[in-house]
Amino acid sequence: MHYVIVGNGVAGVEAALKIRERYAPEEAKITVISEETDYFFSRTALMYAYMDLMTRKDLEPFERKVFDNLKIELVRGRAVDLDADAHTLKLEDGKTLNYTKLLLAVGAKPNIFGWDGIKDAKDGVVHFVSMQDLDACERLTPSTKSAVVVGGGLIGIELVECLKHHGVNVTFLIREPFYWPMALSSEEGAMVNGHMQAHGVDVRLEEELSKVKVDANGRVSGVETNKGNAIECQMLGICVGVHANKEWLNECKSTPELGRGIKVNRAFETSLPDVYAAGDCAEIVREDGSTFQETIWYSAKLHGQLAARSMMGDAVDYEKPLFYNSSKFFHIEYTTVGEVVNLAKGIRSLYRRHPKKEISQRIVYNEANQVIGFNMLGSRWNHNVLERWIHERRSIEWVRKNLAQAQFDVEFGRAKLEEFDEKEIVQ
Ligand SMILES: Cc1cc2nc3c(=O)[nH]c(=O)nc-3n(C[C@H](O)[C@H](O)[C@H](O)COP(=O)(O)OP(=O)(O)OC[C@H]3O[C@@H](n4cnc5c(N)ncnc54)[C@H](O)[C@@H]3O)c2cc1C
Repeated sequence: MHYVIVGNGVAGVEAALKIRERYAPEEAKITVISEETDYFFSRTALMYAYMDLMTRKDLEPFERKVFDNLKIELVRGRAVDLDADAHTLKLEDGKTLNYTKLLLAVGAKPNIFGWDGIKDAKDGVVHFVSMQDLDACERLTPSTKSAVVVGGGLIGIELVECLKHHGVNVTFLIREPFYWPMALSSEEGAMVNGHMQAHGVDVRLEEELSKVKVDANGRVSGVETNKGNAIECQMLGICVGVHANKEWLNECKSTPELGRGIKVNRAFETSLPDVYAAGDCAEIVREDGSTFQETIWYSAKLHGQLAARSMMGDAVDYEKPLFYNSSKFFHIEYTTVGEVVNLAKGIRSLYRRHPKKEISQRIVYNEANQVIGFNMLGSRWNHNVLERWIHERRSIEWVRKNLAQAQFDVEFGRAKLEEFDEKEIVQ
């Protein structure tokens, strides 16, 4: 048996580890191919390397020798062709690998749109997704006085924070009326906005990039916005979302069925025999034809483990779990569990904001008064407890009274119930 995995991100590496857990090296050969780095690293921690708080090696969750010890072969290279009939995968350097089972765990790529002048920019335009993006950011930072970052999401704010850390003046262009409506309410967005401004970020809401200007050497020298403003900058960060890395498969001898991602069933099987897909690149198709994609770390990890089990013959029937995520907006901690945005009409939220501190709590509940989601900013929460309460269908009254049980930072951030201003928001 030869298990070949394309992509050494969390989905690919978790799959490799899962297979090795069951099969010894003499029973199953495992090869992991990646074009990006020699070793698996934590993409979510990329910003800490940019801010010089971690070395690149610190980003690697496993000791390098783990892969040797487990006899997982790591190949640095780019997969360019797939022949499902012959069960072969071809790399850019001409090497061909025979596989018994193949996993595509090829992640996501940053979006870029056809703004006026963007094609003339030979230097100075960056994304913040890959190790090569980090290289470009680090190379450009010393010669950058001002930067513009486009796109009001998680990756955008991380890039803004890194640039501020290095003393760069930053203008943050956000198309929407408040920061990150895909995940936050207008109240929460406004709090994050105020926090960014307090850190000296020039946040422009409802303002979009319209034109990119370059100097005589082709380096970005400024932008124009849809409001007619001209902003000087030497670096332009494009953080307007990501899409499944699937285009290269159109050039292959065998192409699995593609949609917004690489289409798989709930056992992570693509339309090609013995070819699976998992992580950010996968679009999961349910029996009723509806589909979903998840572009978060914890899901990619679970996908990888389950895809491996499916490749080894286990019955797998994946459905996305209750949504959970945690991150930071500069210094504001963020924990989210369950349903908090795109809520149906009539769904209510209890929104609590500390009058003096940047702490807010939003508890979403349904018409039966059962809690269905939490959006917690400014303090640290045990998501396992919050998740359990949703599964237990706890009432809003009960949760409000017992909320402190789910909070981590007792000594510092725990704010007393009576200190908060409360209001009810009805969708
Ligand atoms: C800056 C940043 C911050 C983030 N923060 C969070 C967060 O706070 N919380 C959260 O849940 N998620 C976060 N995410 C998202 C999370 O990192 C991803 O969901 C996760 O890493 C996806 O893992 P993956 O294994 O599917 O793909 P990836 O990690 O993208 O790995 C895919 C790998 O495959 C390689 N590859 C692609 N095509 C080929 C090919 N043809 N040949 C060889 N190799 C190939 C790629 O180069 C890449 O190394 C963040 C992402 C970024 C960029």
